Amino acid sequence: MFNLILFGPPGSGKGTQSEKLVEKYDLVHLSTGNLLRQEIKDKTPLGIEAKSFIDKGQLVPDEVVIGMVDSYFDLHKGAKGFLFDGFPRTVAQAKALDNLLELKKTEIGKVLILDVDEEELISRLVNRGKTSGRSDDMDEKVQRNRQEVYKKETLPVAAYYTKAKKVASINGMGNVDDIFERLSTIIDKKMK
Ligand code: AMP
Repeated sequence: MFNLILFGPPGSGKGTQSEKLVEKYDLVHLSTGNLLRQEIKDKTPLGIEAKSFIDKGQLVPDEVVIGMVDSYFDLHKGAKGFLFDGFPRTVAQAKALDNLLELKKTEIGKVLILDVDEEELISRLVNRGKTSGRSDDMDEKVQRNRQEVYKKETLPVAAYYTKAKKVASINGMGNVDDIFERLSTIIDKKMK
């Protein structure tokens, strides 16, 4: 198996790049944000609980997210590999992921960090809010909170993987195809 984490702040382009990467490298896309939005749409108890956190730009509790990832693994037993998008977002999630992958006798191959200026992030998110229909995209105050939560709770995850020498930082500014090229170059090198 070959497993990748696409890492970066809200608005850095993880969703867009993930769609392209899973197709090119035949990976299963695991976006905890997408899974949570589906739960909300289906009005499940998990979805109802998650919505109150998401609407404020806060993180959904670790045990909820980890349980969801665990079930997703069970649904994709034959996967050649996973692309994790928006997960892990805390060090506790990263440790839980390591344990889950160890049980499958595999590990994270590479963590790719998309690097984008903060003002560019806010402007992308506010623009996305005009068309995405996502309640957490509409309000600039929620956007700023999401960036703060990223710095406080999620950036330590990058340090966790840096220790394991798995991290590569990529310039996430510019057009979608150029960024995709940058990501692919690093993945191809790692896969050789
Ligand atoms: P995303 O689509 O990845 O930007 O996620 C949207 C929102 O879902 C986030 O702002 C969080 O409230 C929640 N969320 C998604 N993934 C996670 C995660 N791994 N841990 C906690 N909350 C998450």
